[in-house]
Amino acid sequence: MILFCKTCGNVLKVEEGSSGLQFACNSCPYIFKIARKISSRTYPKLKELDDVLGGSAAWENVDSTEERCPKCTHPRAYFMQIQTRSADEPMTTFYKCCNPQCGHNWRE
Ligand SMILES: [Zn+2]
Ligand SMILES: [Zn+2]
Repeated sequence: MILFCKTCGNVLKVEEGSSGLQFACNSCPYIFKIARKISSRTYPKLKELDDVLGGSAAWENVDSTEERCPKCTHPRAYFMQIQTRSADEPMTTFYKCCNPQCGHNWRE
């Protein structure tokens, strides 16, 4: 993909801008921002998942299974399987205690 500067006609070069990739002109301040990032897939980091799974909304309509809570020993826990790295690595299983007074969540 080659773009030309709208103001001076030079070939624009691709560079990393503050909000993703952008085309920038070498000889004038013209910048053409690429709205969508080119990188095809991004996987959530485990730290971010911890934040997401800490919220109760993430656990609505989730199946439960026979898994003992390590905190309150309740016999059932909700579970979710999430791909945290690349597609060829196994899924990580996250659990959340079914006891509403406990609500402990942990990962396999
Ligand atoms: Zn230019
Ligand atoms: Zn519990």
